[in-house]
Amino acid sequence: SSPSFFEGNSLAARDAKSLIHSYTNLSQHEKEGPLIIEKGKGIHVFDDSGKEYIEGLAGLWCTSFGFGEQELINAAIEQMQKLPYYHSFASKSTEPGIRLAEKLLDIAPVEFSKAFFVNSGSEANDTVVKLVWYYNNALGRPKKKKIIARMKGYHGVTVAAASMTGLPPLHNDFDLPIQGILHTSCPHYYRFGKDGESEEEFASRMADELEQLILSEGPDTVAAFIAEPIMGAGGVIVPPATYFEKIQAVLKKYDVLMIADEVICGFGRTGQMWGSQTFHIKPDILSCAKALSSAYLPIAAVMVSEDIFRGMVSQSEKHGAFAHGYTYSGHPVPAAVAMRTMELMEERNILEHVRNVSPRFLNRFAALADHPLVGEVRSCGLIGAVELVADKKTKRSFDPKHKAGHLAYLAMQDEGVISRAVAGDNMALCPPLIITESEIDEMFDRFERGLDKAA
Ligand code: PLP
Repeated sequence: SSPSFFEGNSLAARDAKSLIHSYTNLSQHEKEGPLIIEKGKGIHVFDDSGKEYIEGLAGLWCTSFGFGEQELINAAIEQMQKLPYYHSFASKSTEPGIRLAEKLLDIAPVEFSKAFFVNSGSEANDTVVKLVWYYNNALGRPKKKKIIARMKGYHGVTVAAASMTGLPPLHNDFDLPIQGILHTSCPHYYRFGKDGESEEEFASRMADELEQLILSEGPDTVAAFIAEPIMGAGGVIVPPATYFEKIQAVLKKYDVLMIADEVICGFGRTGQMWGSQTFHIKPDILSCAKALSSAYLPIAAVMVSEDIFRGMVSQSEKHGAFAHGYTYSGHPVPAAVAMRTMELMEERNILEHVRNVSPRFLNRFAALADHPLVGEVRSCGLIGAVELVADKKTKRSFDPKHKAGHLAYLAMQDEGVISRAVAGDNMALCPPLIITESEIDEMFDRFERGLDKAA
């Protein structure tokens, strides 16, 4: 925006006067104002001056069908006309919720018993925490309540979800994490692998460290472990080979539940329906959101095993009700849009499409490894990032004061691609799944020009 955006009554000026922005340096925003996005089509969005951008992050890793998919718009209109709202409390139900629950259970990576609907990834993960506690109380294990998450993991911003998130800015001065939420090491081989340690040895060490944490806390106090198959907001960290196999062996040994946070990886991002399939995870509980409805309306879900559901049933008998749920749990309009999203995934063979175009995406990423600013390239399916470093040889990161990621982001934006610097100077790409090979090329051409400018 222009330096004079405060003048007059521009949208930008009205924004700065009226709106609080998430994940924004608020003092900088007061001075510089917003980028206002006015419309979108396919993988593109347009700002209020008419400038076109490739949405390289699919919004917030979510608009899998891009912008303006008429089928999804129609699904919302039709459901709105028929029944614009109903709830799921006290045994009420609607067809879109029933159909969507069946669909999710049908495509799930393991056999789950039931699905529960919420409105966001954060609510899904807060729900997961409550279900784990509820379940262990049902089993008569009141001490087995601690949840282990990972440094750099991202699980959302509500009180329990932000506690599980392993990024300091989400805790600092928010008085988090809450008690009973612990963090184990981040499995980032490039950063934390030791000299001479192979990727598999590193994965073994990560599993050993998890085991040590469980033992030092006492296995009878540890209830669950939560992980994203690929860490997204923590920097797009792809797990080292054999990591989840080794982690799950430890969890099994101490009767600790495995929770897969599929909020980003779910619905095709890694080239399979679920990141759990790509990385051999067998979750007891799964949370998903974002691409569930291609983000056209807010909806998220939690799926649980039969064992956990039976615990919930016995609790509801004991207390008279399963006293959890949101006004909008199973809202029929987002549920109808999500159902149509799931159908479109099949009708248009989106998984096959992702597998077909992914090699181009991965090759273009791989080619960036030689760039003077790039320390590491990480990618899988249609998600990836380059980690910018001040010194390629020593892997030294930029001083945060340098704002390398922010500068690269601005340069890329200038070139017409929206990326984001996540967890430091990691420039992420996670485009709509419908992206074509030639669009991938155009996206990377712009991304590279931005990197060159920032160098
Ligand atoms: N879990 C993961 C892996 C996420 O990436 C996110 C959001 O980016 C969340 C949870 C939180 O979702 P929401 O922002 O919808 O609350």
